[in-house]
Amino acid sequence: DPRLHAIKNRIRVVPDFPKPGIMFQDITTLLLDPKAFKDTIDLFVERYKGKNISIVAGIEARGFIFGPPIALAIGAKFVPLRKPKKLPGKVISQEYILEYGRDCLEMHVGGVEHGERALVVDDLVATGGTLCAAMDLLERVGAEIVECACVIELPELKGRERLNGKPLFVLVECF
Ligand code: 5GP
Repeated sequence: DPRLHAIKNRIRVVPDFPKPGIMFQDITTLLLDPKAFKDTIDLFVERYKGKNISIVAGIEARGFIFGPPIALAIGAKFVPLRKPKKLPGKVISQEYILEYGRDCLEMHVGGVEHGERALVVDDLVATGGTLCAAMDLLERVGAEIVECACVIELPELKGRERLNGKPLFVLVECF
């Protein structure tokens, strides 16, 4: 798809952020180009429209940028998956292991019905730990994971292998 080239070109790579040795893929530059940003959303919407998806779950923070416009366009509800202690209602939590240490995602209970079809959205998949925690939360309340969708994949980190066979769709790969 010719749109993918422009999208990839709008992602800025920032060396040594947030720590020395990390090549950070910065999507804020993509957001500054309305055509490339819209193309990004459209590519996901074209894939998921008519697939009977009733939940788009976005992962804090950059899944909150890409998830809601996809949800609106396909007629799904948006469910935020947040870092601990941000959501005011009753939540379930899922811890996950990072390269150094651990992190946690939380989801409000009550927003998801048993058997609903869910799409998980984030900006980037690296080791896949974050997507796994997100899928665990949704499955714990009986949702069916249709797919995970990210703008960027870092294939060298083999996140795809960690997803227990759950499908992952990405627009661009970065090395
Ligand atoms: P994983 O759990 O797959 O190792 O890491 C993915 C999570 O870390 C995502 O929520 C993503 O936003 C964040 N992340 C890790 N590295 C990068 C990066 O280079 N750029 C951006 N934008 N996010 C990153």
